[in-house]
Amino acid sequence: MVNSGKKATSAAVTLVPQRADEVRRALEEAGCRYTLQRGAVFAFLEGVKCHPTAEDVFSAVRRGLPNISLATVYKALEALVSAGLASKLTNGDGSARYDCRGDSHYHLRDVATGEIHDLATPFDPELLQKLDPQLQERLARDGFEVTGYRLEVLGRFRG
Ligand SMILES: [Zn+2]
Repeated sequence: MVNSGKKATSAAVTLVPQRADEVRRALEEAGCRYTLQRGAVFAFLEGVKCHPTAEDVFSAVRRGLPNISLATVYKALEALVSAGLASKLTNGDGSARYDCRGDSHYHLRDVATGEIHDLATPFDPELLQKLDPQLQERLARDGFEVTGYRLEVLGRFRG
């Protein structure tokens, strides 16, 4: 099920200690520091399904951490992305949304609002093969190694 994109109303700003240790380890392996703010940003991302923008993250996380700045949120998100804890979903218009779901999955984009939701359908690792059985071989000949693919279904919610 896809919910129709209402803003998240609650903001979890703390991680259970074990999760915080995992996040700390991943950040440190990527050469980034773990901070309370970064933990809070990750906790919020992990708790929502709406693929928020940096501004959405900022307005939610500042409820628990009133002194956090938008710049800190941006840096936290970039650190989480570089540590592989989140991914950045960019759009042609330069806007970005963040996702911390680690497994491969598809997205649905509401073209009216720009909101992104997870698509409730199983991920098919063979889909490229089905689309064009020779594609990966041709790309390999050109020196391109396929490491994955993304699929986004576009549309809008009717009023
Ligand atoms: Zn997602």
